[in-house]
Amino acid sequence: MVQLENQIAIVTGASRGIGREISKKLALDGATVYLVDIQEQALLETYHQFMEENLSVKAIRADVTNEAEVEKLFAEVEGEHGKVDILINNAGIIRDNLLYKMSSTDWDDVMNVHLKGTFLCSKYAQKSMVKNQYGRIINLSSVSALGSRGQANYAAAKAGIQGFTKTLAMELGKYHITVNAIAPGFIMTDMTKAVAERLGIPFEELIEAKVKQIPVNRAGTPEDIAQAASFFASPDSSFISGQVLYVAGGPKA
Ligand code: NAP
Repeated sequence: MVQLENQIAIVTGASRGIGREISKKLALDGATVYLVDIQEQALLETYHQFMEENLSVKAIRADVTNEAEVEKLFAEVEGEHGKVDILINNAGIIRDNLLYKMSSTDWDDVMNVHLKGTFLCSKYAQKSMVKNQYGRIINLSSVSALGSRGQANYAAAKAGIQGFTKTLAMELGKYHITVNAIAPGFIMTDMTKAVAERLGIPFEELIEAKVKQIPVNRAGTPEDIAQAASFFASPDSSFISGQVLYVAGGPKA
């Protein structure tokens, strides 16, 4: 499959988990993928692993909450290729706690990475996409947008991403830019491992409990999400915009 041949993709939070797998899939689809993450060492490890697999990747360290760094990132990619075709807003953090124990910092940090980060990267990406009259923006929401105990900050941010996605789809459609969101269910990554740690239970126990509520009777993998991202990123998906695809092993809202 080389459906993304000659295309330039940027994936945030690409060092591990879902972002890593989306990066790999887009590279296998034929794109040149810029891996972006906040920690240089983790980023370079993933970059070197992908290079060994002969994938067409580059790595740029950037914090998506820092406008100067985001601006520099897009200027660098634009300078090298003159375009950005695909943006995956995937970088994320959790700072879970019940409301009465949630600090303002927990709230602000989650809003900053998910909402401000998605806003900033989309803003700089659309500049390039409008100029080239083509683009695919894919934002990571979550089933938590429907409500999730202990995640008031994260649920609000992930619901916000859905409104942001639908709005950009309206604003950018006339430039042949589609904007969609993927709302993953329970996916086995370091993020869900951290949830098990907070609950004080082994990861396997959390997986077992979650699987009981998932109609297809298994937990999700980063590959499941990469598949959906590849679908939205395809030039053939040009009539699909402003959608939220729940990739959760069963029906969600
Ligand atoms: P993960 O394993 O924790 O990976 C997230 C990556 O984002 C990490 O490499 C992290 O770097 C990076 N990151 C954090 N803050 C950043 C910043 N300011 N700038 C750049 N990069 C930053 O998470 P995941 O499970 O793969 O989740 C990926 C996305 O899917 C997130 O948006 C998450 O909310 C969403 N999601 C996940 C699930 C799930 O079940 N796993 C379900 C629904 C939605 P550090 O290592 O330095 O923090």
